Amino acid sequence: MSIQFQADREKFSQLRKSLVHLTGEIKGLVKPCFSDRPVIKGTVYELKRKCGKPGCRCARGELHHRMVVSASERGKTRLQVIAHGFLVEVQGKVRRYQELRRVRARLGEVYRQMLQVMDEMEAMRREELPSPGKDRNGSGDLRG
Ligand SMILES: [Zn+2]
Repeated sequence: MSIQFQADREKFSQLRKSLVHLTGEIKGLVKPCFSDRPVIKGTVYELKRKCGKPGCRCARGELHHRMVVSASERGKTRLQVIAHGFLVEVQGKVRRYQELRRVRARLGEVYRQMLQVMDEMEAMRREELPSPGKDRNGSGDLRG
């Protein structure tokens, strides 16, 4: 393939633009990784339950509501009640963890796309040596 045809030049230009775009995206993706703020690999949700005390309002159907965080630690799922006033902080840690995972996944996708684009560009630029005997320009045959 050669890049001397107009259609190929346009395609090559598109590929170049894709590469510029993907390279730019990487910068934004690694940004959350520079932070040293704590993260929690878990989920925050509201737990509704009965406490078991006889005569409590929960026995009549008014369940107790508590915000909890469930986190996976060494393969086991642990549940912890979030103390009053700490909900926003815990939610932030959980959100930051999810963000790290999101950018990690996207980064893999971006690299995969970049390699695809780079391979296509390389293939378009590749020049093959003329096969011996078929070259009539006098430039290729070493036997003269
Ligand atoms: Zn109760």
